[in-house]
Amino acid sequence: MTKYIFVVGGVMSSVGKGIATASIAKLLESRGYNLTCVKIDPYINVDAGTMNPTEHGEVFVTEDGDETDQDIGNYERFLNKDILSTNYITTGRVYKTVIDNERNLKYNGKCVEVVPHIPLEIIRRIKTAGKKAKADIVITEIGGTVGEYQNILFLEAARMMKLEKPDDVAFVMVSYLPIPNKVGEMKTKPTQSAVRTLNSSGIQPDILLCRSEKVIDEKRKEKLSIFCNLSKNKIIAAPDVDSIYDVALNFKKENLDDRIIEILKLKKRKENDQLEKWRELSEKIKKVKDEVKIGIVGKYFETGDYVLTDSYISVIEAIKHASWAQNKKPIISWISSDEYEKNPDKVNELSKYDGVIVPGGFGSRGIEGKINAIKYLRENNIPFLGLCYGMQLAIIEFARNVAGIKDATTEEIDPNSKNLVIHTMKEQREKINNSNYGGTMRLGAYPCKIKKDTKTYEAYCKDEISERHRHRYEFNNDYRKLLEKNGLVFAGTSPDNKLIEIIEIPNHKFFIGCQFHPELKSRPLNPHPLFMSFIKASISNKYKVKEKAKIHS
Ligand code: GLN
Repeated sequence: MTKYIFVVGGVMSSVGKGIATASIAKLLESRGYNLTCVKIDPYINVDAGTMNPTEHGEVFVTEDGDETDQDIGNYERFLNKDILSTNYITTGRVYKTVIDNERNLKYNGKCVEVVPHIPLEIIRRIKTAGKKAKADIVITEIGGTVGEYQNILFLEAARMMKLEKPDDVAFVMVSYLPIPNKVGEMKTKPTQSAVRTLNSSGIQPDILLCRSEKVIDEKRKEKLSIFCNLSKNKIIAAPDVDSIYDVALNFKKENLDDRIIEILKLKKRKENDQLEKWRELSEKIKKVKDEVKIGIVGKYFETGDYVLTDSYISVIEAIKHASWAQNKKPIISWISSDEYEKNPDKVNELSKYDGVIVPGGFGSRGIEGKINAIKYLRENNIPFLGLCYGMQLAIIEFARNVAGIKDATTEEIDPNSKNLVIHTMKEQREKINNSNYGGTMRLGAYPCKIKKDTKTYEAYCKDEISERHRHRYEFNNDYRKLLEKNGLVFAGTSPDNKLIEIIEIPNHKFFIGCQFHPELKSRPLNPHPLFMSFIKASISNKYKVKEKAKIHS
């Protein structure tokens, strides 16, 4: 029998609901339960794929090719398992199904209403996710904050599930307790109001997670207990942490796992070593001192006056995993490629990094800046890893500056150019012509075969891999021979040898570009082989006298 936990947010957004959800999952997993997590995004978009990352953070792609919210990535990293598209729900998705069902006469002539038909479809999706994952417990994170108009129907679905089986459903509210500077005291009133707002949807939280700068004290726990109608042991401290890996460990200190097991009347199972491994990692992170400096040349950083690094969260996490595994503390710097476009000489500053990543992206803004950066990294023998667009741009740079095709470019930027070394994939043409953009890229896991005697082979130690994709453009095979003749190595291709998936330059400390997104498969306790090799090269670059690359400068 499957149990269900709903995680909702109170007071404000960005208090770490996703990490709280993933940490609860981790904690319960260590008690022997099979867990899966579902993310609900209340927006109308059918998926996250059509949004600019500065709007909503990184688009996380699942094995089965869904373009989802970055929290799905958190769940995968914490649980060390794949989460499928069934586990991602949006308002757009729910309404689309209900409307399609109505058009297909699936409601037997009934009047189709917002309530109950929309919540029933939400419930169906949550239960399907549980069944598919054979989960003992499904944790569903409802995006947004209680009181928002957008998530009312999701709360309604959760309430209906609780009504059907009261012992099988629990509610966790992640709330925020501010400590205003001038007051210097932790305030509980916003949380009291948030709980009342949740109550007005017919839901009483079973657990209150108190996010704050500091650990909530006993006095304020007592206050919340009285005003929010909850026993004190269900009010759990969730202070700010240096590392997200500490959250589950903090919850353990407050016995959150025992509380949930009691509330859901779960049978106690034997504890496994999952949390112990987590603890070891958390301790290691605190201990590592020796630094490795990595630069990321990207463009989705700025929102208004603030810098947002959420757009590249999986890349950042993958760097961290591989660095910690090699006992290094990663120091990650954000470099806006626009800068290198305005001022190409500024690329010289890249020599201060031990390694540099050019991640994925879309469109033409900042592209010449990225190409300038890649040229500098290639010529100055600085470890480089190009991800998706990063690989395509590395090919363009090589075509222009090594193979002498001065106007080499990608169809994405200049469809009329004579030398499109990167061009639209065949099956994409019709989609682009019909403006059919949503969920139509080459998405999800595809196999790739790897050439022996390459750095890529050294990294993976096998000749067939599977990696996740998200792109519309591909390398144009008309240029294959010429670039190969000039020294570019095609280290990975699709099994039929038609699509270029990995390129590398030999005689360089590390210069690899891949058409896929390896960052999506890196896990804290299982770092990705390409990131491991890139960090290894960056570490050795740090200790060696900087020398020019032997070829192609
Ligand atoms: N814009 C490029 C393409 O569509 C690369 C996409 C990416 O970096 N994810 O092919």
